[in-house]
Amino acid sequence: MKNELFRKLPKVDILMKNNLLKDLMIQMDYNSFYEVVTLGIDYFRNKIKNGEIEKFSEDEIIKKIKILAKKNQERNLKNVINGTGVILHTNLGRAILNEKVADKLKQIVTGYSNLEFDLQTGERGSRYQLLEKLICKITGAEGAMIVNNNASAVILCLNEFAKNKKTVVSRGELVEIGGSFRIPEIMELSGTTLKEVGTTNKTNIKDYEKAIESSFVEEEKFNEIGVLLKVHTSNYKIIGFTDSVNKIEIAELGKKYNIITIDDIGSGVLIDYEKYGLTKEPTVQDSLKAGMDIVTFSGDKMLGGAQCGIIAGKKNLIERLKKNPFTRAFRVDKMSIAVMEEIFRYYLDEEKAIREIPVLKMLTEKSEKVNLRAEKLRDLLKNSGIDTRVVKTIALVGGGAMPDEKIISYGVAFKNDNNTLEEKFRECETPIIGRTKDNNFILDLKAIKEESFQYIVEEAKKIIL
Ligand SMILES: *Cc1c(COP(=O)(O)O)cnc(C)c1O
Repeated sequence: MKNELFRKLPKVDILMKNNLLKDLMIQMDYNSFYEVVTLGIDYFRNKIKNGEIEKFSEDEIIKKIKILAKKNQERNLKNVINGTGVILHTNLGRAILNEKVADKLKQIVTGYSNLEFDLQTGERGSRYQLLEKLICKITGAEGAMIVNNNASAVILCLNEFAKNKKTVVSRGELVEIGGSFRIPEIMELSGTTLKEVGTTNKTNIKDYEKAIESSFVEEEKFNEIGVLLKVHTSNYKIIGFTDSVNKIEIAELGKKYNIITIDDIGSGVLIDYEKYGLTKEPTVQDSLKAGMDIVTFSGDKMLGGAQCGIIAGKKNLIERLKKNPFTRAFRVDKMSIAVMEEIFRYYLDEEKAIREIPVLKMLTEKSEKVNLRAEKLRDLLKNSGIDTRVVKTIALVGGGAMPDEKIISYGVAFKNDNNTLEEKFRECETPIIGRTKDNNFILDLKAIKEESFQYIVEEAKKIIL
């Protein structure tokens, strides 16, 4: 019986010539086509071997091959619909851009550009010069440069200013951000030695001053202090009996002892969000006004742009950083520069920034509007025979920013008694990512656009009906 079935299996080379697979043969490269046809036949061979089937048709094999071919052609990196309610979801690609910025990016990457070419002199130019004036204008800094992310911005600064010296950090700020960005490890990589001061919940300016003075007593050069570093504890907050030292005090202390002060603020906030009913996050401008010599921040967190790290501060220090060998290793690419120029141009006009940068738009969008979107999706689903409820949710900024900001949002909740929906929606061609809560599958509407509604309804019909 089994042998008879095995004999009925088509030969690979013959099946490859089947007219019903002609389209695939044309679309795919030879090796991939050969592979999926072989896999399709193997699939049935295994079923026969395990006694799972007693008959099959060639059409069934062809159907299986078509499914395998579709999987083979799928991209590994693809769009997903973010129904998690987390605006800057690090696992889902952080900040998203608008189409105008994407168009500019397309234009730059499909042609040549003056990335490192000075159009006035006809000589070699610097990619670090392109956006410097613009960043200075917006932040009030004397100088600025961009590297490939904020983690490298911090390493670069510590290497340039504190190599073979000590870097003073408050114990309350020895944070780990986004997986493996741990301040103590970053210190080691940069060639500086960590000098912790204060305690987890209390550090005052005297602690910093004591650390500086004790380094004078010990005469070895190694003990010199290179940098006073302040790190924004982006993704957690110590609540209660706490005391973190004011930036103005640190900046003054740095000046008094001629030590460079650096503020790693993480999320690049350029707007006072209190005006929009959100918690006050430290802004780049505040740090510079307080007198910090250097401020570092990410391009794709609350700034809303591309992955990169921005360093703004004293002109002479920025010039030193540009010459450090790490700068070459951490070099920013033209795609990020193209995006960041558009993003910074929006910031020249705050209203425009809020309107045009998707992250800012989502952050400041009124919850009533999200509620209306949720109701609309619920109604569309209902018209297709799927019952959902609109539920109030809490959206988050994410990306380690505003950790205790609970943004009122709304979502649609699907009944999900055996908790299978999360996986089924995730397996859609354009995966729909939501979360499971109390036997419900919830899609938070904070980061879902109306353009996606039709797709969500169609997929929900396939899954549920
Ligand atoms: C996010 C963050 C970083 C790392 O920034 P990347 O751009 O992800 O490299 C460093 N420091 C702080 C305080 C942060 O919040």
